[in-house]
Amino acid sequence: MRPENPASAKPLSSEKPKILLATRNRHKTVEIQTMLGEGVLVSDVTGMPHLPEVEETGVTFEENSKLKAEGISRHVSGIVLADDSGLEVDALGREPGVYSARYAGLDCNDEANTALVLKKMQGFPEEVRSARFRCVLAVAENGITLALFEGTIEGMLAHEVRGEGGFGYDPIFMPVGHEKTFGELSAEIKHGMSHRSRALKQFQEWWIARSS
Ligand code: IMP
Repeated sequence: MRPENPASAKPLSSEKPKILLATRNRHKTVEIQTMLGEGVLVSDVTGMPHLPEVEETGVTFEENSKLKAEGISRHVSGIVLADDSGLEVDALGREPGVYSARYAGLDCNDEANTALVLKKMQGFPEEVRSARFRCVLAVAENGITLALFEGTIEGMLAHEVRGEGGFGYDPIFMPVGHEKTFGELSAEIKHGMSHRSRALKQFQEWWIARSS
Protein backbone atom coordinates (compact mmCIF):
# COMPACT_ATOMS: atom_id res chain seq x y z
CA MET A 1 0.00 0.00 0.00
CA ARG A 2 1.24 3.50 -0.82
CA PRO A 3 2.42 5.50 2.20
CA GLU A 4 0.16 8.40 3.06
CA ASN A 5 -0.54 10.97 5.71
CA PRO A 6 3.05 11.70 6.65
CA ALA A 7 3.63 12.21 10.36
CA SER A 8 6.92 13.91 11.02
CA ALA A 9 8.53 15.88 13.80
CA LYS A 10 10.56 17.77 11.23
CA PRO A 11 8.21 20.25 9.60
CA LEU A 12 8.93 21.65 6.18
CA SER A 13 9.17 25.45 6.38
CA SER A 14 6.27 26.77 8.48
CA GLU A 15 4.25 23.55 8.41
CA LYS A 16 3.06 22.29 11.76
CA PRO A 17 4.52 18.96 12.84
CA LYS A 18 1.99 16.15 12.47
CA ILE A 19 1.27 13.08 14.53
CA LEU A 20 -0.89 10.20 13.39
CA LEU A 21 -2.56 8.24 16.18
CA ALA A 22 -3.34 4.56 15.64
CA THR A 23 -6.79 4.90 17.11
CA ARG A 24 -10.44 5.41 16.21
CA ASN A 25 -11.22 6.55 19.77
CA ARG A 26 -11.94 10.26 19.36
CA HIS A 27 -11.65 10.86 23.10
CA LYS A 28 -7.99 9.85 23.04
CA THR A 29 -7.35 12.02 20.00
CA VAL A 30 -8.99 15.08 21.56
CA GLU A 31 -7.07 14.61 24.83
CA ILE A 32 -3.73 14.18 23.07
CA GLN A 33 -4.36 17.17 20.77
CA THR A 34 -5.32 19.31 23.78
CA MET A 35 -2.24 18.26 25.73
CA LEU A 36 0.19 18.75 22.84
CA GLY A 37 -1.32 22.15 22.02
CA GLU A 38 -2.00 23.97 18.78
CA GLY A 39 1.59 23.79 17.58
CA VAL A 40 1.10 20.15 16.59
CA LEU A 41 -1.52 18.69 14.24
CA VAL A 42 -2.89 15.45 15.69
CA SER A 43 -4.97 13.14 13.50
CA ASP A 44 -6.23 9.60 13.85
CA VAL A 45 -7.26 6.78 11.54
CA THR A 46 -11.01 7.45 11.82
CA GLY A 47 -11.40 8.66 8.24
CA MET A 48 -9.17 5.93 6.81
CA PRO A 49 -11.28 2.77 6.55
CA HIS A 50 -8.69 1.15 4.26
CA LEU A 51 -6.19 1.02 7.11
CA PRO A 52 -6.39 -2.26 9.04
CA GLU A 53 -8.39 -2.72 12.20
CA VAL A 54 -5.54 -3.96 14.38
CA GLU A 55 -6.62 -6.80 16.64
CA GLU A 56 -5.62 -6.27 20.25
CA THR A 57 -4.49 -9.83 20.95
CA GLY A 58 -1.87 -8.88 23.54
CA VAL A 59 -2.27 -9.50 27.25
CA THR A 60 -0.39 -6.37 28.36
CA PHE A 61 -0.77 -2.67 27.55
CA GLU A 62 2.75 -2.76 26.10
CA GLU A 63 1.92 -5.59 23.70
CA ASN A 64 -1.30 -4.00 22.47
CA SER A 65 0.24 -0.57 22.11
CA LYS A 66 3.05 -2.02 20.00
CA LEU A 67 0.62 -4.06 17.89
CA LYS A 68 -1.38 -0.92 17.05
CA ALA A 69 1.59 1.37 16.35
CA GLU A 70 3.41 -1.23 14.25
CA GLY A 71 0.26 -2.39 12.45
CA ILE A 72 -0.65 1.11 11.23
CA SER A 73 2.90 2.31 10.61
CA ARG A 74 3.38 -0.39 7.98
CA HIS A 75 0.87 1.46 5.78
CA VAL A 76 1.83 5.12 6.23
CA SER A 77 5.01 7.14 6.09
CA GLY A 78 6.47 8.73 9.20
CA ILE A 79 5.97 7.88 12.82
CA VAL A 80 2.74 6.55 14.30
CA LEU A 81 1.75 6.87 17.95
CA ALA A 82 -0.50 4.32 19.67
CA ASP A 83 -2.13 4.54 23.10
CA ASP A 84 -3.18 1.43 24.98
CA SER A 85 -4.72 2.24 28.28
CA GLY A 86 -7.18 1.11 30.89
CA LEU A 87 -8.31 0.82 34.47
CA GLU A 88 -6.85 -1.64 36.98
CA VAL A 89 -8.91 -2.38 40.09
CA ASP A 90 -6.85 -4.12 42.77
CA ALA A 91 -9.81 -5.93 44.38
CA LEU A 92 -10.72 -7.38 40.96
CA GLY A 93 -7.25 -8.80 40.34
CA ARG A 94 -6.37 -5.74 38.24
CA GLU A 95 -9.37 -6.15 35.96
CA PRO A 96 -10.57 -4.76 33.61
CA GLY A 97 -6.97 -3.95 32.55
CA VAL A 98 -6.35 -4.50 28.84
CA TYR A 99 -10.02 -5.47 28.48
CA SER A 100 -11.21 -2.04 29.68
CA ALA A 101 -12.80 -1.06 26.37
CA ARG A 102 -14.72 -4.38 26.06
CA TYR A 103 -15.25 -5.38 29.71
CA ALA A 104 -19.02 -5.76 29.43
CA GLY A 105 -18.85 -7.35 25.97
CA LEU A 106 -17.57 -6.63 22.49
CA ASP A 107 -20.39 -4.24 21.53
CA CYS A 108 -20.65 -2.56 24.89
CA ASN A 109 -20.26 1.12 25.69
CA ASP A 110 -18.62 3.17 28.45
CA GLU A 111 -21.80 3.15 30.56
CA ALA A 112 -22.07 -0.65 30.48
CA ASN A 113 -18.39 -1.10 31.35
CA THR A 114 -18.62 1.36 34.21
CA ALA A 115 -21.81 -0.24 35.52
CA LEU A 116 -20.16 -3.67 35.51
CA VAL A 117 -17.17 -2.46 37.54
CA LEU A 118 -19.50 -0.79 40.05
CA LYS A 119 -21.61 -3.95 40.29
CA LYS A 120 -18.58 -6.15 40.95
CA MET A 121 -17.35 -3.68 43.56
CA GLN A 122 -20.71 -3.37 45.32
CA GLY A 123 -20.29 -3.57 49.10
CA PHE A 124 -16.51 -3.21 49.00
CA PRO A 125 -15.39 -0.68 51.66
CA GLU A 126 -13.03 2.28 51.04
CA GLU A 127 -9.91 0.38 52.12
CA VAL A 128 -10.19 -2.01 49.19
CA ARG A 129 -11.34 0.37 46.45
CA SER A 130 -7.86 1.26 45.19
CA ALA A 131 -7.43 1.47 41.43
CA ARG A 132 -5.26 3.09 38.80
CA PHE A 133 -5.31 4.15 35.19
CA ARG A 134 -2.39 3.02 33.07
CA CYS A 135 -1.35 4.20 29.65
CA VAL A 136 1.39 2.86 27.41
CA LEU A 137 2.30 4.86 24.32
CA ALA A 138 4.20 3.15 21.53
CA VAL A 139 5.84 5.02 18.71
CA ALA A 140 6.61 3.07 15.55
CA GLU A 141 7.86 3.63 12.04
CA ASN A 142 7.79 1.17 9.11
CA GLY A 143 6.42 -1.58 11.35
CA ILE A 144 9.12 -1.27 14.01
CA THR A 145 8.63 0.10 17.52
CA LEU A 146 11.08 2.89 18.27
CA ALA A 147 10.12 3.62 21.87
CA LEU A 148 7.58 2.96 24.65
CA PHE A 149 6.41 5.37 27.34
CA GLU A 150 4.28 4.57 30.36
CA GLY A 151 2.18 6.71 32.69
CA THR A 152 -0.01 5.78 35.66
CA ILE A 153 -2.31 7.62 38.04
CA GLU A 154 -3.35 6.02 41.32
CA GLY A 155 -6.77 6.58 42.82
CA MET A 156 -9.95 5.14 44.32
CA LEU A 157 -13.20 3.93 42.88
CA ALA A 158 -16.31 5.96 43.68
CA HIS A 159 -19.49 4.14 44.76
CA GLU A 160 -21.54 5.63 41.95
CA VAL A 161 -21.19 7.44 38.64
CA ARG A 162 -20.40 11.13 39.21
CA GLY A 163 -19.83 13.89 36.66
CA GLU A 164 -20.24 14.39 32.95
CA GLY A 165 -16.65 15.10 31.95
CA GLY A 166 -14.05 12.89 30.31
CA PHE A 167 -14.88 9.44 28.97
CA GLY A 168 -14.69 5.75 29.82
CA TYR A 169 -14.28 5.13 33.53
CA ASP A 170 -13.67 8.80 34.41
CA PRO A 171 -17.00 9.19 36.27
CA ILE A 172 -16.08 6.45 38.77
CA PHE A 173 -12.37 7.22 39.29
CA MET A 174 -11.15 9.63 41.98
CA PRO A 175 -7.47 10.44 41.43
CA VAL A 176 -5.22 10.52 44.47
CA GLY A 177 -5.63 13.77 46.44
CA HIS A 178 -9.17 14.39 45.17
CA GLU A 179 -12.62 13.44 46.39
CA LYS A 180 -14.13 14.24 43.02
CA THR A 181 -14.02 11.90 40.05
CA PHE A 182 -12.29 12.70 36.76
CA GLY A 183 -15.84 13.10 35.47
CA GLU A 184 -16.38 15.97 37.92
CA LEU A 185 -12.92 17.54 37.74
CA SER A 186 -12.02 19.88 34.88
CA ALA A 187 -10.18 18.61 31.82
CA GLU A 188 -7.32 20.88 32.87
CA ILE A 189 -6.96 19.09 36.21
CA LYS A 190 -7.21 15.68 34.56
CA HIS A 191 -4.57 16.59 31.98
CA GLY A 192 -2.28 17.90 34.71
CA MET A 193 -2.03 14.47 36.34
CA SER A 194 -3.45 11.72 34.13
CA HIS A 195 -1.78 8.50 33.04
CA ARG A 196 -1.98 9.71 29.44
CA SER A 197 -0.37 13.09 30.16
CA ARG A 198 2.45 11.43 32.10
CA ALA A 199 3.23 9.09 29.22
CA LEU A 200 2.81 11.91 26.69
CA LYS A 201 5.36 14.14 28.46
CA GLN A 202 7.98 11.42 28.04
CA PHE A 203 7.03 11.03 24.38
CA GLN A 204 7.37 14.80 23.85
CA GLU A 205 10.88 14.79 25.31
CA TRP A 206 11.82 11.86 23.08
CA TRP A 207 10.31 13.56 20.02
CA ILE A 208 12.08 16.86 20.65
CA ALA A 209 15.41 15.09 21.17
CA ARG A 210 14.89 13.09 17.96
CA SER A 211 14.02 16.18 15.92
CA SER A 212 16.97 18.31 17.06
P1 IMP B 1 -7.95 0.69 24.40
O1 IMP B 1 -8.56 1.43 23.27
O2 IMP B 1 -7.87 -0.77 24.23
O3 IMP B 1 -6.65 1.33 24.83
O4 IMP B 1 -8.96 0.85 25.63
C1 IMP B 1 -8.97 1.97 26.40
C2 IMP B 1 -10.15 1.91 27.36
O5 IMP B 1 -9.67 2.15 28.68
C3 IMP B 1 -11.16 3.03 27.08
O6 IMP B 1 -12.15 2.61 26.19
C4 IMP B 1 -11.67 3.34 28.45
O7 IMP B 1 -12.67 2.42 28.79
C5 IMP B 1 -10.46 3.09 29.34
N1 IMP B 1 -9.68 4.33 29.51
C6 IMP B 1 -8.44 4.59 29.00
N2 IMP B 1 -8.05 5.83 29.32
C7 IMP B 1 -9.06 6.36 30.03
C8 IMP B 1 -9.25 7.65 30.60
O8 IMP B 1 -8.42 8.57 30.50
N3 IMP B 1 -10.41 7.81 31.25
C9 IMP B 1 -11.34 6.84 31.38
N4 IMP B 1 -11.24 5.64 30.83
C10 IMP B 1 -10.09 5.41 30.14
